[in-house]
Amino acid sequence: MKTRAPYPDEEPLPWWSVGLYFSCVMCGCCCGGAPGTVRFTAQEEAAMASAVGVDIDDFRLLYVHNKYWRPSLREKSNYDCIFLERPIRCRVYGARPSQCRTFPFWRDILSGRYTWDSYAKSCPGMNSGKYYSADEIREILVEG
Ligand code: SF4
Ligand code: SF4
Repeated sequence: MKTRAPYPDEEPLPWWSVGLYFSCVMCGCCCGGAPGTVRFTAQEEAAMASAVGVDIDDFRLLYVHNKYWRPSLREKSNYDCIFLERPIRCRVYGARPSQCRTFPFWRDILSGRYTWDSYAKSCPGMNSGKYYSADEIREILVEG
């Protein structure tokens, strides 16, 4: 069936409107091995503190540092996230922040097929596994 051209005031469909494939294979590559930042909200900070059994003050002291002028989870000397335990396990998995839960469906990664595929080179879970429809991707974008 032919499709009509979009009306001039209509947003063109994003490149990922046909859906995308992703299933995490728990390789841990996105949680460590290179410098990065893990941002979180106040609510997420409280949830992580509770998950590791400390109060907010101790949580900040032990697990948070300022990176690029904003709080971020600390990294070990090998640049693994402070909560990454090998073999692969996140110590705060049930309370991990939205940044972690929504990867790789981030706005900047979804900005173009080229960017998505570039990230996929270091994430073996992208472009395989579970199918995400455009509606499911939109829901994750709202959460992220
Ligand atoms: S790099 Fe991809 S497959 Fe590996 S842990 Fe991260 S999300 Fe999962
Ligand atoms: S909080 Fe957990 S999921 Fe997020 S980067 Fe650290 S180890 Fe990975």
